[in-house]
Amino acid sequence: MEFWLERGFDLAMSEKALNENESTYNESTYTDAEARQILETLFLIEDFFRYGVRCEHKISLETSSSAIPSTWDRKAHLEALETQVSQCTACGLWQSRSQTVFGEGVLDPKVMVIGEGPGMEEDRQGLPFVGASGQLLDKMLAAIDLSRHNNCYIANIVKCRPPNNREPSPSECDACIGYLRAQIDILQPDFILCVGRIAAHSLLRLSDPISRLRGRSFDFQGIPVCVTFHPSALLRDTALKRPAWEDLKQFRSLMECRALTESRATKKVK
Ligand code: SF4
Repeated sequence: MEFWLERGFDLAMSEKALNENESTYNESTYTDAEARQILETLFLIEDFFRYGVRCEHKISLETSSSAIPSTWDRKAHLEALETQVSQCTACGLWQSRSQTVFGEGVLDPKVMVIGEGPGMEEDRQGLPFVGASGQLLDKMLAAIDLSRHNNCYIANIVKCRPPNNREPSPSECDACIGYLRAQIDILQPDFILCVGRIAAHSLLRLSDPISRLRGRSFDFQGIPVCVTFHPSALLRDTALKRPAWEDLKQFRSLMECRALTESRATKKVK
Protein backbone atom coordinates (compact mmCIF):
# COMPACT_ATOMS: atom_id res chain seq x y z
CA MET A 1 0.00 0.00 0.00
CA GLU A 2 2.80 2.38 0.93
CA PHE A 3 4.37 1.80 -2.48
CA TRP A 4 1.23 2.91 -4.29
CA LEU A 5 0.42 5.79 -2.00
CA GLU A 6 3.93 7.13 -2.58
CA ARG A 7 3.13 7.11 -6.28
CA GLY A 8 -0.28 8.72 -5.84
CA PHE A 9 -2.49 5.68 -6.30
CA ASP A 10 -3.10 2.22 -4.83
CA LEU A 11 -4.23 -1.28 -5.66
CA ALA A 12 -6.49 -1.63 -2.67
CA MET A 13 -9.79 -2.09 -4.51
CA SER A 14 -10.56 -5.78 -4.18
CA GLU A 15 -12.41 -8.21 -6.41
CA LYS A 16 -14.99 -8.40 -3.60
CA ALA A 17 -15.60 -4.69 -3.90
CA LEU A 18 -15.99 -4.98 -7.66
CA ASN A 19 -18.38 -7.89 -7.25
CA GLU A 20 -20.42 -5.90 -4.76
CA ASN A 21 -20.65 -3.09 -7.31
CA GLU A 22 -21.65 -5.64 -9.92
CA SER A 23 -24.47 -7.11 -7.85
CA THR A 24 -25.71 -3.61 -7.08
CA TYR A 25 -26.27 -3.14 -10.80
CA ASN A 26 -27.82 -6.59 -11.30
CA GLU A 27 -30.47 -6.02 -8.67
CA SER A 28 -31.34 -2.55 -9.93
CA THR A 29 -34.07 -1.27 -12.22
CA TYR A 30 -31.98 1.42 -13.91
CA THR A 31 -32.53 2.44 -17.49
CA ASP A 32 -29.78 1.51 -19.97
CA ALA A 33 -28.49 5.09 -19.99
CA GLU A 34 -28.36 5.19 -16.18
CA ALA A 35 -26.73 1.76 -16.01
CA ARG A 36 -24.11 2.79 -18.60
CA GLN A 37 -23.37 5.95 -16.59
CA ILE A 38 -22.96 3.88 -13.41
CA LEU A 39 -20.62 1.40 -15.11
CA GLU A 40 -18.53 4.22 -16.59
CA THR A 41 -18.23 5.77 -13.13
CA LEU A 42 -17.23 2.42 -11.60
CA PHE A 43 -14.56 1.93 -14.26
CA LEU A 44 -13.30 5.47 -13.66
CA ILE A 45 -12.99 4.81 -9.91
CA GLU A 46 -11.37 1.42 -10.50
CA ASP A 47 -8.85 2.88 -12.96
CA PHE A 48 -7.93 5.67 -10.57
CA PHE A 49 -7.44 3.38 -7.59
CA ARG A 50 -5.62 0.71 -9.54
CA TYR A 51 -3.50 2.65 -12.02
CA GLY A 52 -3.95 6.39 -11.51
CA VAL A 53 -5.05 6.89 -15.13
CA ARG A 54 -8.23 6.52 -17.16
CA CYS A 55 -8.31 3.46 -19.42
CA GLU A 56 -10.65 2.64 -22.26
CA HIS A 57 -13.41 0.09 -21.54
CA LYS A 58 -16.02 -1.45 -23.79
CA ILE A 59 -19.31 -1.43 -21.88
CA SER A 60 -21.82 -4.10 -22.85
CA LEU A 61 -25.04 -3.94 -20.86
CA GLU A 62 -26.07 -7.35 -22.17
CA THR A 63 -23.08 -9.02 -20.53
CA SER A 64 -22.57 -6.55 -17.72
CA SER A 65 -22.77 -9.19 -14.95
CA SER A 66 -19.30 -10.39 -15.90
CA ALA A 67 -18.11 -7.32 -17.78
CA ILE A 68 -16.64 -5.34 -14.89
CA PRO A 69 -13.63 -7.55 -14.10
CA SER A 70 -13.30 -9.35 -17.43
CA THR A 71 -13.15 -6.39 -19.83
CA TRP A 72 -10.15 -4.73 -18.28
CA ASP A 73 -8.06 -3.59 -21.14
CA ARG A 74 -4.83 -5.34 -20.17
CA LYS A 75 -2.87 -3.64 -22.91
CA ALA A 76 -3.97 -0.16 -21.81
CA HIS A 77 -3.31 -0.92 -18.15
CA LEU A 78 0.15 -2.30 -18.93
CA GLU A 79 0.98 0.70 -21.10
CA ALA A 80 -0.10 3.07 -18.34
CA LEU A 81 2.05 1.18 -15.85
CA GLU A 82 5.00 1.13 -18.26
CA THR A 83 4.77 4.90 -18.57
CA GLN A 84 4.93 5.17 -14.76
CA VAL A 85 7.96 2.87 -14.69
CA SER A 86 9.77 4.79 -17.44
CA GLN A 87 9.64 7.93 -15.29
CA CYS A 88 10.49 6.24 -11.99
CA THR A 89 13.31 7.52 -9.78
CA ALA A 90 12.31 5.63 -6.63
CA CYS A 91 15.74 4.04 -6.17
CA GLY A 92 19.26 4.91 -7.27
CA LEU A 93 19.23 2.53 -10.24
CA TRP A 94 17.54 5.13 -12.44
CA GLN A 95 20.81 7.06 -12.59
CA SER A 96 22.70 4.39 -14.52
CA ARG A 97 19.96 3.10 -16.82
CA SER A 98 19.78 3.77 -20.56
CA GLN A 99 16.11 2.89 -20.40
CA THR A 100 13.76 0.89 -18.21
CA VAL A 101 13.06 -2.76 -19.08
CA PHE A 102 9.40 -3.34 -18.37
CA GLY A 103 8.62 -6.82 -19.72
CA GLU A 104 7.75 -8.77 -22.84
CA GLY A 105 5.23 -11.44 -23.78
CA VAL A 106 1.61 -12.25 -24.41
CA LEU A 107 -1.27 -10.52 -22.64
CA ASP A 108 -2.92 -13.74 -21.45
CA PRO A 109 0.11 -15.71 -20.24
CA LYS A 110 -0.05 -19.26 -19.04
CA VAL A 111 3.28 -18.64 -17.31
CA MET A 112 4.95 -15.49 -16.03
CA VAL A 113 8.73 -15.87 -15.85
CA ILE A 114 10.43 -13.60 -13.33
CA GLY A 115 14.13 -12.78 -13.25
CA GLU A 116 16.11 -10.37 -11.11
CA GLY A 117 17.02 -7.43 -13.36
CA PRO A 118 18.23 -6.26 -16.76
CA GLY A 119 21.82 -6.77 -17.92
CA MET A 120 23.81 -4.73 -20.42
CA GLU A 121 22.06 -6.02 -23.56
CA GLU A 122 18.62 -5.74 -21.95
CA ASP A 123 19.40 -2.15 -20.95
CA ARG A 124 20.44 -1.43 -24.55
CA GLN A 125 17.39 -3.02 -26.18
CA GLY A 126 14.78 -2.28 -23.50
CA LEU A 127 13.69 -5.94 -23.48
CA PRO A 128 14.11 -8.63 -20.80
CA PHE A 129 16.39 -11.66 -21.27
CA VAL A 130 17.82 -10.86 -24.70
CA GLY A 131 21.52 -11.47 -24.01
CA ALA A 132 23.26 -14.84 -23.78
CA SER A 133 21.28 -15.84 -20.70
CA GLY A 134 18.08 -14.79 -22.46
CA GLN A 135 18.84 -17.09 -25.38
CA LEU A 136 19.38 -19.94 -22.94
CA LEU A 137 16.14 -19.06 -21.13
CA ASP A 138 14.25 -19.23 -24.44
CA LYS A 139 15.69 -22.73 -25.01
CA MET A 140 14.77 -23.82 -21.49
CA LEU A 141 11.20 -22.59 -21.98
CA ALA A 142 10.93 -24.18 -25.44
CA ALA A 143 11.87 -27.54 -23.90
CA ILE A 144 8.58 -27.45 -21.97
CA ASP A 145 6.51 -25.89 -24.78
CA LEU A 146 6.67 -22.34 -23.47
CA SER A 147 7.60 -19.19 -25.35
CA ARG A 148 7.38 -15.45 -24.80
CA HIS A 149 5.71 -15.27 -28.24
CA ASN A 150 2.92 -17.78 -27.50
CA ASN A 151 2.13 -18.33 -23.84
CA CYS A 152 4.57 -16.52 -21.53
CA TYR A 153 5.28 -13.07 -20.18
CA ILE A 154 8.80 -12.28 -18.95
CA ALA A 155 9.64 -9.55 -16.44
CA ASN A 156 12.19 -8.74 -13.75
CA ILE A 157 12.08 -7.70 -10.13
CA VAL A 158 13.92 -4.44 -10.87
CA LYS A 159 13.27 -2.56 -14.09
CA CYS A 160 16.61 -0.72 -14.29
CA ARG A 161 20.03 -2.25 -14.82
CA PRO A 162 22.24 -2.47 -11.72
CA PRO A 163 25.72 -1.07 -12.52
CA ASN A 164 28.32 -3.66 -13.59
CA ASN A 165 25.61 -6.34 -13.57
CA ARG A 166 25.72 -6.61 -9.79
CA GLU A 167 22.77 -8.11 -7.93
CA PRO A 168 20.04 -5.61 -7.04
CA SER A 169 20.11 -4.80 -3.32
CA PRO A 170 17.15 -5.68 -1.06
CA SER A 171 16.20 -1.99 -0.84
CA GLU A 172 16.23 -1.66 -4.65
CA CYS A 173 14.07 -4.80 -4.94
CA ASP A 174 11.67 -3.43 -2.34
CA ALA A 175 11.44 -0.11 -4.16
CA CYS A 176 10.54 -1.82 -7.45
CA ILE A 177 8.53 -4.91 -6.47
CA GLY A 178 5.22 -3.02 -6.56
CA TYR A 179 5.50 -2.66 -10.33
CA LEU A 180 5.91 -6.42 -10.72
CA ARG A 181 2.96 -7.06 -8.42
CA ALA A 182 0.88 -4.74 -10.59
CA GLN A 183 2.00 -6.61 -13.73
CA ILE A 184 0.91 -9.89 -12.14
CA ASP A 185 -2.37 -8.29 -11.08
CA ILE A 186 -3.07 -7.15 -14.64
CA LEU A 187 -1.87 -10.27 -16.49
CA GLN A 188 -3.21 -12.92 -14.06
CA PRO A 189 -0.86 -15.73 -15.19
CA ASP A 190 -1.82 -19.33 -14.40
CA PHE A 191 1.69 -20.11 -13.12
CA ILE A 192 4.84 -18.25 -12.12
CA LEU A 193 8.40 -19.46 -12.66
CA CYS A 194 11.07 -17.60 -10.69
CA VAL A 195 14.52 -17.91 -12.20
CA GLY A 196 17.17 -17.31 -9.58
CA ARG A 197 17.37 -16.71 -5.87
CA ILE A 198 16.82 -12.93 -5.99
CA ALA A 199 13.53 -13.26 -7.89
CA ALA A 200 12.23 -15.93 -5.50
CA HIS A 201 13.32 -14.06 -2.38
CA SER A 202 11.76 -10.78 -3.47
CA LEU A 203 8.47 -12.20 -4.71
CA LEU A 204 7.89 -14.80 -2.00
CA ARG A 205 9.47 -12.91 0.92
CA LEU A 206 11.71 -15.86 1.72
CA SER A 207 15.41 -16.08 2.46
CA ASP A 208 16.12 -19.80 1.96
CA PRO A 209 19.05 -20.80 -0.25
CA ILE A 210 18.00 -21.81 -3.75
CA SER A 211 18.79 -25.45 -2.94
CA ARG A 212 15.80 -25.36 -0.55
CA LEU A 213 13.53 -23.41 -2.88
CA ARG A 214 13.85 -25.77 -5.86
CA GLY A 215 11.58 -28.79 -6.08
CA ARG A 216 8.76 -27.11 -4.18
CA SER A 217 5.58 -25.30 -5.17
CA PHE A 218 4.73 -21.99 -3.49
CA ASP A 219 1.68 -19.78 -3.66
CA PHE A 220 1.57 -16.14 -4.65
CA GLN A 221 -1.94 -14.72 -4.39
CA GLY A 222 -3.42 -18.05 -5.48
CA ILE A 223 -0.93 -18.55 -8.32
CA PRO A 224 1.39 -21.61 -8.09
CA VAL A 225 5.07 -20.60 -8.12
CA CYS A 226 8.14 -22.75 -8.83
CA VAL A 227 11.79 -21.79 -8.60
CA THR A 228 14.81 -22.79 -10.65
CA PHE A 229 18.29 -21.50 -11.40
CA HIS A 230 18.88 -18.25 -13.28
CA PRO A 231 20.16 -19.08 -16.80
CA SER A 232 23.29 -17.01 -16.17
CA ALA A 233 24.14 -19.46 -13.35
CA LEU A 234 23.86 -22.31 -15.87
CA LEU A 235 26.21 -20.48 -18.22
CA ARG A 236 28.74 -20.11 -15.40
CA ASP A 237 28.38 -23.69 -14.15
CA THR A 238 27.18 -26.24 -16.72
CA ALA A 239 26.82 -28.88 -13.98
CA LEU A 240 23.64 -27.04 -12.97
CA LYS A 241 21.95 -27.80 -16.29
CA ARG A 242 20.81 -31.26 -15.25
CA PRO A 243 19.13 -30.16 -11.98
CA ALA A 244 17.60 -27.21 -13.88
CA TRP A 245 16.11 -29.66 -16.36
CA GLU A 246 14.66 -31.65 -13.44
CA ASP A 247 13.06 -28.41 -12.18
CA LEU A 248 11.54 -27.71 -15.59
CA LYS A 249 10.13 -31.24 -15.89
CA GLN A 250 8.59 -30.86 -12.44
CA PHE A 251 7.12 -27.50 -13.44
CA ARG A 252 5.68 -29.07 -16.60
CA SER A 253 4.13 -31.85 -14.48
CA LEU A 254 2.54 -29.22 -12.24
CA MET A 255 1.00 -27.50 -15.26
CA GLU A 256 -0.22 -30.81 -16.74
CA CYS A 257 -1.67 -31.88 -13.40
CA ARG A 258 -3.58 -28.60 -13.08
CA ALA A 259 -4.87 -28.90 -16.66
CA LEU A 260 -6.05 -32.48 -15.98
CA THR A 261 -7.82 -31.46 -12.76
CA GLU A 262 -9.59 -28.58 -14.52
CA SER A 263 -10.60 -30.80 -17.42
CA ARG A 264 -12.14 -33.36 -15.00
CA ALA A 265 -13.94 -30.62 -13.09
CA THR A 266 -15.38 -29.26 -16.37
CA LYS A 267 -16.61 -32.73 -17.36
CA LYS A 268 -18.32 -33.18 -13.99
CA VAL A 269 -20.14 -29.86 -14.35
CA LYS A 270 -21.41 -30.92 -17.81
FE1 SF4 B 1 12.21 2.82 -10.19
FE2 SF4 B 1 12.51 0.18 -10.24
FE3 SF4 B 1 14.12 1.71 -11.73
FE4 SF4 B 1 14.38 1.69 -9.06
S1 SF4 B 1 14.71 -0.05 -10.45
S2 SF4 B 1 14.33 3.51 -10.40
S3 SF4 B 1 12.23 1.44 -8.39
S4 SF4 B 1 11.88 1.48 -11.96
